[in-house]
Amino acid sequence: MPDEFIHEPRIAYFTMEIALRNEIPTYAGGLGVLAGDTARSATDLELQIVVVSLVSRSGYFRQEIDANGRQLERAENWDPEKWSKPLNAKIAVPIDGRTVWIGAWLYVLEGSTGGRQPVLLLDTDLDENSSEDREITHYLYGGDNAYRLKQEIVLGIGGVRMLQAVGFTIRHYHMNEGHSALLGLELMRRYTYSVEDVRPGESPYDIPRVRDLCSFTTHTPVEAGHDRFPYDMIQRILDNGFDISAIKKLAGADNLNMTRLALNMSEYINGVAKKHAETSTAMFPGYKVHAITNGVHPYTWTAESFRKLYDHYLPGWCHEPQLLGRVDCCVPEAAIWRAHIEAKQQLVEKVRTISGVSLSSDMPIFGFARRMTAYKRPDLLFMDLERLKEIARKQPFQIVLAGKAHPRDGNGKHLIELLCAHARDLAGTITVVYLPGYDMALAQMLTAGVDVWLNTPLPPLEASGTSGMKAAFNGVPNLSILDGWWVEGCIEGVTGWAIGDISGIPDGNARALYDKLEQVVLPLYFNNDKSRWISVMKGAISKNASYFNSHRMMRRYATEAYSR
Ligand SMILES: *Cc1c(COP(=O)(O)O)cnc(C)c1O
Repeated sequence: MPDEFIHEPRIAYFTMEIALRNEIPTYAGGLGVLAGDTARSATDLELQIVVVSLVSRSGYFRQEIDANGRQLERAENWDPEKWSKPLNAKIAVPIDGRTVWIGAWLYVLEGSTGGRQPVLLLDTDLDENSSEDREITHYLYGGDNAYRLKQEIVLGIGGVRMLQAVGFTIRHYHMNEGHSALLGLELMRRYTYSVEDVRPGESPYDIPRVRDLCSFTTHTPVEAGHDRFPYDMIQRILDNGFDISAIKKLAGADNLNMTRLALNMSEYINGVAKKHAETSTAMFPGYKVHAITNGVHPYTWTAESFRKLYDHYLPGWCHEPQLLGRVDCCVPEAAIWRAHIEAKQQLVEKVRTISGVSLSSDMPIFGFARRMTAYKRPDLLFMDLERLKEIARKQPFQIVLAGKAHPRDGNGKHLIELLCAHARDLAGTITVVYLPGYDMALAQMLTAGVDVWLNTPLPPLEASGTSGMKAAFNGVPNLSILDGWWVEGCIEGVTGWAIGDISGIPDGNARALYDKLEQVVLPLYFNNDKSRWISVMKGAISKNASYFNSHRMMRRYATEAYSR
């Protein structure tokens, strides 16, 4: 391990997935992109962290979509050697009664302002291991529950041991979601009282000490979304001298619930938006769940044309995105519009290359791209096709869609088929295109190149959502259900628009969406006075991007979670 990384104590940031760069497919969606943005901001802010994740050699999957809208999944193998260096250290963990050896790759993340940060990608694909064990770190979110448990042992327990083996001094552990909660068990083993100090029936582990070292960020607002493992599986696969009765007290009596374990192992717990923290507090009575609202990395998610614009008018914006708050008065309207048209034309070009479909840059484009899964309701816009067509006949628009469904999410895959069928039905009236292979690069082009970013989740299931924040960095206003970050981000008519009644409970139905489109959003777009539209674009930048960025988020983690 290069000395530059180990001479100072660091924060260890544990995450099952991470979007390091587009060529490295070790992420599935928002959680991984957030992890990447966290690491990127930590680098820019010179906060000393070390990321621990899995190498996921076969990636999540590469998506193709056939003529019937069916998703085809291919392995997306990548070569760690091309982007990272193997470390000499090897550590072992007992899994399923066998000794499983774990190696690591060092990826060095380079910040947009010169900083460098180490990322360890754990790998069991070593000659020492059986062919079954070599696959533990191959497939992100693949396999069954037992496979998942093995991955989480490698991440949590293997990760802590690897950090020690390569010489890191860790001053704090941050669990990004519950997948890495087993790290708490490894720390408990490290901080065990000597036998003579433990009274019968009491825990032999120094749990207060472990809790002082750990923070936990939860991302899942429903119980069903939390990983849990039956104790007979735990005993078979993980058991290596842990006191199971002590673990049951921390992780649940019936199953080992990774979220419970993480909650009990952490002094600082947070949700990823204010509303999500409230939902989580209700779900976990007795725990103090703080709110640190997510953000996105300024440089990564800003299109070239806007980077140049901000560099010119607001130098320093990349380090202090608060400066974007001055956009309202310091950047000419025409310059904003030119930067937007440049990003839009790039998207139009990209869409043509990928799909052969020609979009017009003179007409508004609505964008919707995210993981395809039921609660995100990508079909809400298409609930009443006649109404949608009627709106488009008077005020024409185009729609671009994208997103992957998890290979075992039948509903999600069905949604893709449905959206592709709608695209065919609407042809001639509304151009709708579904782009395959949603990834970081496509997300960047889409969030920058459309005119309005749509978001229609079923509340309260969108913990935060981050793609709308990427849009804001490019002056693209959101039209969204009031859930997740948008509860904080929406200033009606100023930063974008809410779907549903802003004063009451967000009903978020299709009619409210159609009404808002027809009566507010499209008339403003087609208004002869373009400056009124541009002022909403400016509102998105000055009031959303200046705040919903990962620099602000990391400054809060640093002062409120890590400094305990
Ligand atoms: C930003 C991003 C996401 C997360 O978007 P949400 O709005 O949170 O659904 C998912 N996938 C990719 C590739 C992204 O870039």
